[in-house]
Amino acid sequence: MARRSGGFKIRLIIGLLVAAFAVFQYYSNSSFNEITGEDQHVSLSPEQEIQLGLDGRDYMIQESGGLYQDQEVQQYVDQIGADIVQKSDASKTPYPYEFHVLADPNTVNAFAMPGGQIFITVGLLKRLQSKDQVAGVLGHEVGHVVARHSAQQMEKQKLTQGLVGAAGVVGGDVNSAQYAQMIGNMVNMSYGRADELQSDELGVRFMIQAGYDPSALIGVMEILAEASGGQSQPEFASTHPSPDNRIQKIKEAIDEYGNATSSGDY
Ligand SMILES: [Zn+2]
Repeated sequence: MARRSGGFKIRLIIGLLVAAFAVFQYYSNSSFNEITGEDQHVSLSPEQEIQLGLDGRDYMIQESGGLYQDQEVQQYVDQIGADIVQKSDASKTPYPYEFHVLADPNTVNAFAMPGGQIFITVGLLKRLQSKDQVAGVLGHEVGHVVARHSAQQMEKQKLTQGLVGAAGVVGGDVNSAQYAQMIGNMVNMSYGRADELQSDELGVRFMIQAGYDPSALIGVMEILAEASGGQSQPEFASTHPSPDNRIQKIKEAIDEYGNATSSGDY
């Protein structure tokens, strides 16, 4: 009896040490994001984010029925994407942004992988009514990349894994099973509502900087709300606050960034 309880105590102490170490690691991996102005818990380097996105890209394209085979449409999206990236604060990030039009006509969706890989289905693209709306979708997705939402999510997952005693995933010596799991998580990732609101806000900011009409993002929200009736929810709508609340926040961001007399104070 005494031995069993002694063994339990030792296991408990080791467990607490492992947990404390995981928490310590999480909080010591802090880096400042210049664009969002936040301290973030991320241990992936931008180079690792880029590599993960590139590794996930082909898998994602394959899963979505391939690329949409129309060069004109692809170039249209590339040009708007390049505008958003090159004429905004997103240009200060080290990511090689790529915009892919996916051939899936039935799914209404757009999403981003870490490191600048951005996808939009032709099913969504065909519902959009203007260049500004396309810029709204791409701006929102670029926002997820710039704010490093995937890398932050992975860090939280790593913390969770650490708390149940698993080894850290990131650090250069990732084995292939863990790596496959990371890619899988990345694909299925849904962001929290705070992340969605932040991407909306960043999207508005990048649209204004690139010369697009930010109010078009409100139209995008309406199109997505309509499209999500009855089918699986698009990335955009995954965990979001009520559409009204979200549109209200977009309006606030438009006021904030639209009335800014100079850039450089955010
Ligand atoms: Zn989103």
